[in-house]
Amino acid sequence: GGSLSSLFENELDEEQKEAVIKSEGRSIIVAGPGSGKTRVITYKIAYLLNNGVEPENILLVTFTRAAAREMIERVKNVTNRNMDKMLAGTFHHVCNSILRKYATILDYKNNFSILDKEDSKDLLKMAKSEYIKEISDNYKLPKEEVIMKIISYSCNTLTSLRESILERAPYLLNFERDIEQIWGIYAQLKKDMNAMDYDDLLVNTLVLFKTHPEILTKCSSQFKYVLVDEFQDTNKIQIELVEALSSVHGNLIVVGDDSQSIYSFRGALFKNIKDFIEDERTKVFKIQSNYRSTSDIVGFINHLIPSNSVPKVLKPKRKSYLKPFVVETFDDLEQADAVVKIIEDKLSEGLEYKDIAVLYRSHSLSMVLQQKLDSKGIPYRILSGLRFIETAHIKDILAFLKILNNPLDKISWMRVLKLFPGIGNKTATRIYEQLETKTNEEQDNISNILKETEINKFKTPLELLTKLFEKKESTPDKLIDIVYQDFYQEYSFLTFTDSKSRNMDIERFSEIASRYESVNAFIEDLTLSEEIGVMASNKDKDENKLTLTTIHGAKGLEWKVVILISVNPGDFPNGLAIKEQKLEEEERLFYVAITRAKNELYILKQLTGTTNPYLKNSFYFVKKENDFIKKIPEEMVNLLKIGYK
Ligand code: ATP
Ligand code: MG
Repeated sequence: GGSLSSLFENELDEEQKEAVIKSEGRSIIVAGPGSGKTRVITYKIAYLLNNGVEPENILLVTFTRAAAREMIERVKNVTNRNMDKMLAGTFHHVCNSILRKYATILDYKNNFSILDKEDSKDLLKMAKSEYIKEISDNYKLPKEEVIMKIISYSCNTLTSLRESILERAPYLLNFERDIEQIWGIYAQLKKDMNAMDYDDLLVNTLVLFKTHPEILTKCSSQFKYVLVDEFQDTNKIQIELVEALSSVHGNLIVVGDDSQSIYSFRGALFKNIKDFIEDERTKVFKIQSNYRSTSDIVGFINHLIPSNSVPKVLKPKRKSYLKPFVVETFDDLEQADAVVKIIEDKLSEGLEYKDIAVLYRSHSLSMVLQQKLDSKGIPYRILSGLRFIETAHIKDILAFLKILNNPLDKISWMRVLKLFPGIGNKTATRIYEQLETKTNEEQDNISNILKETEINKFKTPLELLTKLFEKKESTPDKLIDIVYQDFYQEYSFLTFTDSKSRNMDIERFSEIASRYESVNAFIEDLTLSEEIGVMASNKDKDENKLTLTTIHGAKGLEWKVVILISVNPGDFPNGLAIKEQKLEEEERLFYVAITRAKNELYILKQLTGTTNPYLKNSFYFVKKENDFIKKIPEEMVNLLKIGYK
């Protein structure tokens, strides 16, 4: 009808329109980078709304919360609809919102805490030491990180512990029984403190659906349409979840690109997308144009399709402009200079900082550059890397809020108590145990209960905590301000040499908190925002800064100018991948990186090679097949040598 054509006019091409209108039932839109997959999903939502589907009947799953927000913004603009009731976010958000309603059925309280990665690791450590006490032996057990990796793999791929060990750390097979026991204790500890880790959110939702079909029916009746972006990076459990959530109406519409699958370490399976396409129930749609990049860049991209991907040739929609550049510098210091030079040139041509991004394989490769940018006063935001929320001072403040929200949160109690002089591990444990027994008996009034524990020997924490628990219904920023004024400011001054900048972080944290009405909503959003770096600096986004990010963090995004640094065998492709000759995922990462560029692409390498001293002299790193740049035909790029000549 009329509304339809005006909705799409000049916005979608024929292939895209077809995908929007005809995707029904089980459908997949497979297409290369920059072809408008995300745009198609966005318009699909607008289209459904215009055809009488209500926002609450659509479920949108994206890879980051920020992506969901942007898509919803766009839908709002084209439809003028209120979208508050639409459920949209990552798998973890979606599961969280389901579990908040039904947690009691699984024997949790609805105010369960969510453990972030650090918290989970701490708790696993506790589980490990309990286990060691039980077996009263001291033989060397695997590290927490490795155990966690195995457990997580098992959860995400729905495979047995044994298979997961074989897949992730085969040399640990002898420890199968130990790991199983530790996992059991870990699970019990989480239950006792009314907490779930990230994997539990997914696992428990699936368990809920399997054990309570009536709840599944209820949830999936609500979702007439289930839409998934970046489908190539979903893992087994996530696929089962969307299958379940779409089971009543059968409308599961996904978009993805097999050549951009980069999360196998989280159990994402390259072959999931293939299986989905080959399933005979699935309608398959294709889009073959590339709208993002200029034809020079598209030509380059077409040449670098990762091995083993579905062959695809993207048709450029934009005119040629400038060939991609390969820039050779002497070492990483000169590389940093070269990056600054490129940025300065672009600014003088009229571009802005926010049009430019620097990408790298791993966060550590950006350190030298960061120093350089700091010294030059170039403003930047980091999309990935050490997340704001993972820094000690922010975790400290957050721990106070967490115990207000869930008074059984042992990890946060221990963290809070140990901040105070005179309270160490033992005393903290005793205080927590006294509190735990009492809360189980009386529940409510923690500020009263506190006085009956050993904490009454310590004046400052007793007063502060009493005050906080009495005001726990206040807004999160007010509570943060209390912690800061009454205690943390002084603590920070006495503890950190850089307390000034930490205090500024806390102010910013409080500012973010002021956007939330309840502690609960704030904590939930924080713990679930994998893209918290983005969230903490949401304001920055408009503030016109250069972007620094790992390639993983750049997924789905685009910039006018993309500068990919340290493309040296050992740095990228990553050294371990070269040693194990697992280069396919590295190729896909390279592909993701180069396909972020709209107008200009710079690829930087160093004459001195990788900065990793362990890899430097190994013959692996000089072999041609391990070097991305050596695979690029000379005529496709401009070669620049900078500095050392
Ligand atoms: P990726 O694989 O990187 O996630 P994608 O397939 O999701 O990419 P989009 O991000 O949706 O691609 O689109 C890439 C760019 O092309 C965006 O800037 C988008 O606005 C633009 N674009 C897509 N389709 C069209 C179109 N029909 N007309 C004009 N611009 C378009
Ligand atoms: Mg996309």
